Amino acid sequence: MATIFSKIVKGEIPSYKIAEDERYYAFLDINPLGEGHTLVIPKQEIDYLFDLDDDLLAAMMVFAKKVAVALKKAIPCERVGVAVLGMEVPHAHIHLLPLQHEKDLNF
Ligand code: 5GP
Repeated sequence: MATIFSKIVKGEIPSYKIAEDERYYAFLDINPLGEGHTLVIPKQEIDYLFDLDDDLLAAMMVFAKKVAVALKKAIPCERVGVAVLGMEVPHAHIHLLPLQHEKDLNF
């Protein structure tokens, strides 16, 4: 069964796109922990980040780095944090979180 994120990639569920290329898609988290909270996913439906083959995983990090640089320009922040949580949606993803201080996160 298609994951929510696969439906987002296909445009069946709306999302706020941040960036996209042939293999990856970046979009704002629907329930953000802070301003600019972005999810980066492979378009291919693979459950968990470390199940990606090495090339796909490495290229995803390069794509995520470009997204992080763009986020840092767009949103005043000290740095862009990276998190792998993976508790909710069984489709490989990483979280990018523009941060000033720890208190930016709405945990
Ligand atoms: P995780 O699986 O890493 O714990 O979290 C998955 C993330 O996906 C959560 O932060 C959640 O808010 C986000 N999310 C779940 N469903 C949707 C959705 O339909 N659209 C968007 N933009 N984000 C979603």
